[in-house]
Formats: sequence, C-alpha cells, structure tokens
Amino acid sequence: MNCLQKSATKTYAAVRAAQLAGKSIGLVPTMGALHEGHLSLVEASLAECDHTVVSIFVNPTQFGPSEDLASYPHVLEQDLRLLEERGCWLVFAPQADEMYQPGHGTYVDVGSVAVPYEGASRPTHFRGVATVVLKLFQIIPADRAYFGRKDYQQTLVIRKMVSDLNLPVEVRVCPIIREADGLAMSSRNAYLNAEERQRASLLWQSLKLAEQMHAKGQTEVAVIARSMRELLATDELEAEYIAFLAEDTVQEVTHLEGPTVVALAAQVGKTRLIDNHTIG
Ligand code: AMP
Repeated sequence: MNCLQKSATKTYAAVRAAQLAGKSIGLVPTMGALHEGHLSLVEASLAECDHTVVSIFVNPTQFGPSEDLASYPHVLEQDLRLLEERGCWLVFAPQADEMYQPGHGTYVDVGSVAVPYEGASRPTHFRGVATVVLKLFQIIPADRAYFGRKDYQQTLVIRKMVSDLNLPVEVRVCPIIREADGLAMSSRNAYLNAEERQRASLLWQSLKLAEQMHAKGQTEVAVIARSMRELLATDELEAEYIAFLAEDTVQEVTHLEGPTVVALAAQVGKTRLIDNHTIG
C-alpha cells in the first residue's frame, strides 16, 4: 500500500511539502491493532484536516519490564487496509531502531500530573509516552493531534507537555468508544478469554453505578466508591484504584460538586484494563 512510510526523514519531507502547499495535517498516534476507538480519532482528523497521518508504533519505552511489549498485537496489513478505506493520507510505521538509535538518552518528564494512578502503577510509562509523542511531533509537525479520552491521564500528560514546551500543535481529545455492553474498546481486550470478556463489562457497570448514585443525590465519594467495589466483587474483580478527579486534573475530590472524572483500573485475569467516565 502506497501510503505506508517507515522512514522518519521521508515522512517529515512529505508532511512539510504538503504544508508548504497549504495543506493542514492531522496526526493520530497509535500502537496499531486498530479498532473503532482509533478509527473515531481518524474520522475526527479527516473532518478537520486536509491530510490525516496515522502513526503505528509499539513504543518500547512506555512498557515496564514485566509488561506485555513482546505479546502486544501486531496486525499491520489489516490496519493499513482499514486506514486506506477511511482515506488516510500517510501511515508512519517505523521500526524500533528508526525511533530509538543506540545510545538514545533524552526523555521527557512532565512532572506531577504523571505521578499518581497510572504513573504509580507504571512508573516509567508516561515518560515513554511523552518522549515518543514529542518525537512523533518532530517527525510529523502536525497542525492538530488527536487523542482518546479513554486514556484520560495520558491526555493531561500530553497537554502539559504541549503547554510547557510551547509546541505548535492543537491537541484534540475525542470521546470513548465502547462495545455494545459498555466495555471501552482497547487493543488489549483481545487478550481476554470469553469468561474474562464477560466479567470485564463490570468496569463500565460500576462507572454507570457511580453516575446513577450521583443522579439520585449521593455526593459522598467514599460511599459511591464502596458501592462500585461491591459491584466489582460480585464477579471477583478488584479495582487497583477508583479515583474521583476534578475535570481536567488529577486532583482527588471527596465530595461531588462540579464535573468529576471517575477513573479506574482493574486486572481481569492477566489483562490490566482502565476506563473512566465523567459525572456531575
Ligand atoms: P493506543 O493504540 O492504545 O496507544 O491508542 C491510540 C489512541 O487511541 C490513544 O489516544 C487512545 O486514547 C485512543 N483510544 C484507544 N481506545 C479508545 C477508545 N475506546 N475510544 C476512543 N479513543 C481510544
């Protein structure tokens, strides 16, 4: 397929040539194994930009030593077909050594927003994410870049980096796309067996429960969190964390007042899943 490009230099040249010809560029960074969640970001870019670039790169620096880097799904041919069908202009799918040359030693640390929750569970994760996204912004100097709300804390990390480093890119955050039973789409859902897949829908049910309790007037976070944990426990799921965060921050609230992001992580079998939902 002719929109596939593995070279960073050639990708940069193609993007700059298009921009000099007056075209706007949208970038959708992904790790591949594309699903409708990814494709919703592609659609948002297609609607707003002249050309859409999708990067597919399973970034080693955002995986911890005991995480699933080696088993992460790779289905490049299938991804390319989907992207071509949608009208994507260029797919940048580099090899690892194109992105990280031997001796690579520069990393981006955005500070406190990367520390709790996902950062606590995966200590080098956001450093890897911020580093690779900055590198992608250098190779593909897009006008707009599209990220999913599914990775709530990641969107805060990216916004912080863009603001702190004066990066000339507009960050767009798109809604979470879910399966029919509410499970947030994720490439990692492919790891779940049938029984785990069924249990995984409890994550969304617990987030809906928080919304329902709030709608009925409950504002005490501790009470809502307890009920969510009880619901998860009905199918032997235990949340690693359930956090109630003031919108667009990682500041915990104890009492629901304004818009609040309920974020959680849970292990389902060997698969660690995250989800979130805004209430209030
Ligand atoms: P990944 O390939 O998992 O790194 O995800 C690439 C981008 O797609 C990230 O910005 C994710 O937040 C976004 N994304 C993943 N799953 C979903 C989903 N279910 N709905 C919306 N965006 C998503």
